[in-house]
Amino acid sequence: MGSTATPNVSSLSLSSETQYRCCWYCSRGEEALPTKLQKCGRCGLAVYCNRECQRGDWKLHKAKCKRLTEIVVDTDAKNRLRSGALKRRLLTLSQGTIILTIRDPDITTIGDMNLTEERVHEAPFLDCKSLLRVDLKGCTKLASVGNGAFAACSSLTSVVLPDSLTQVGENAFQDCTSLTSVVLPDSLTQLGNFAFGRCTSLTSVVLPDSLTQLGVAAFGKCTSLTSVVIPDSLTQLGDGAFEDCTSLTSVVLPESLTQLGKAAFQYCSSLTSMVLPDSLTQLGERAFGCCTSLTSVVLPDSLTQICKAAFGGCTSLTSVVFQDSLTEIGKWAFQECTSLTSVVLPDSLTQLGKAAFLGCTSLTSVVLPDSLTQLDRNAFQECTSLTSVVLPDSLTQLSDAVFFECSSLTSVVLPDSLTHIRDSAFQDCTSLTSVVLPDSLTQLGDRAFGWCISLTSVVLPDSLTQLSEGVFCNCTSLTYVVMPDSAELGDDVFMDCNALVDKAALAGFNSVEPYLRDRYISITLRKLVLRLLRKYNQAVNNAYGTEAEKHVSALAQFPADDSGSLEVGLFLQKMIVSGGDGVKGLVGYILKFV
Ligand SMILES: [Zn+2]
Ligand SMILES: [Zn+2]
Repeated sequence: MGSTATPNVSSLSLSSETQYRCCWYCSRGEEALPTKLQKCGRCGLAVYCNRECQRGDWKLHKAKCKRLTEIVVDTDAKNRLRSGALKRRLLTLSQGTIILTIRDPDITTIGDMNLTEERVHEAPFLDCKSLLRVDLKGCTKLASVGNGAFAACSSLTSVVLPDSLTQVGENAFQDCTSLTSVVLPDSLTQLGNFAFGRCTSLTSVVLPDSLTQLGVAAFGKCTSLTSVVIPDSLTQLGDGAFEDCTSLTSVVLPESLTQLGKAAFQYCSSLTSMVLPDSLTQLGERAFGCCTSLTSVVLPDSLTQICKAAFGGCTSLTSVVFQDSLTEIGKWAFQECTSLTSVVLPDSLTQLGKAAFLGCTSLTSVVLPDSLTQLDRNAFQECTSLTSVVLPDSLTQLSDAVFFECSSLTSVVLPDSLTHIRDSAFQDCTSLTSVVLPDSLTQLGDRAFGWCISLTSVVLPDSLTQLSEGVFCNCTSLTYVVMPDSAELGDDVFMDCNALVDKAALAGFNSVEPYLRDRYISITLRKLVLRLLRKYNQAVNNAYGTEAEKHVSALAQFPADDSGSLEVGLFLQKMIVSGGDGVKGLVGYILKFV
């Protein structure tokens, strides 16, 4: 047989025992069938399990049936591949008409595992659109299919690989957009980067137990892939391994897996649930980003860190179970998880990254653990359903815009440890009616409470040294403010606080600041009142039960006599009346004294 002029052996009957035959429709191998495969009567090449399979394939096969040609390479495959002779011939033939069988028992590699991207045109079958089916079963010593070997063979529907194969190189089958299924032999240890990338017709793949390495985006953009089982032999999944597999509904991860690479399942928009193995210690960034059908996830107790944007844009995610092993939630980790309604963060958590829950518009409640020392900027920005939040004593500052635009937030309990509330921390919290700032606070950042249009009263502590620009700007309902004279005022602190401006004008002041300063000086009982308020708030926070029960138990801690300069008896009586109204009622009551 000449090295270039391979005859069209369409009538050649292959009888070699190394020839592997399987149904052209369902891909079942002859060995798995009760009867022999039946040949198509017209071309004598296509084989099927039964009439149903033949009928199923006919729509596709009809156009090619009589034009099919079989090319068999029995010997000297190495030279014919290297010289490019076979490729040159394949490039002249019509699309999807060639059945190629290579059965050279001496060949160990097809293509080159070290082929660089610049030399990819040398890959033996690159862009051979004439290939319909390839059978390498007879290459009994074949160990590797090199980089780009069959890339862009866009008509290739089936590849049969020999049991000797250990490596599939980078891009080896990338863009084989007609490939529907592939059986990887049990000898395979390594699948290179992009090996089956953009094989958009691939519906299923079985990864063998021998596999130890799955490269970057190995199955990226396999948009028809519905299920995958990852074998026990793998400890990590490469970056983007199954990224953009938009039909993937079922994934089984083994207990051996410790790392999920970056974007491993990003944009897998059909994935509904995910069980992560107990072996997993790290979830790469964007690992499940924009998995828009994912509804629930249970995180394993081996996990210490959730990397950035790991679940960002998972718009159907309603429930996440965190374990006590977790210490860090990275930035954007749950950004725009718009179905997430409640979150209980574990007692092990120390850091919550920037914008971690930004735009979680269904989140109504969140419990922050006492272990938390850092709450980064924008952490709960635009959580427009969040009604209340209790911040732990471990926090010393609230970062920029941390609750920005939480338009349903009516109540917030700030810890005694807090020294700084940074810029825009509560800006546009349009439902917030009152806030008690702790005695530890020294600084309020720019617009910290700007546009809190429902805020009516605020008591600023003596510890406060700085009120930055526009802290209360556009708080149009703000009427009562207790402001210490120690505080340095930035520009426009009370800009457009219409109610307060009117009050100041009525008292004969042409701006708010001197009016408040003047008022403050006249407050004689201020310190006692604030001390009582403080003590009472602490007692409420430390109590258990319903809101009303907390107030009753807090009141029990106050002496029921009329001692002291303040009318404590009256104070207590008023408190019982306003008990159900909580801090708001208390502040309203105390402000009658100031
Ligand atoms: Zn079949
Ligand atoms: Zn036929």
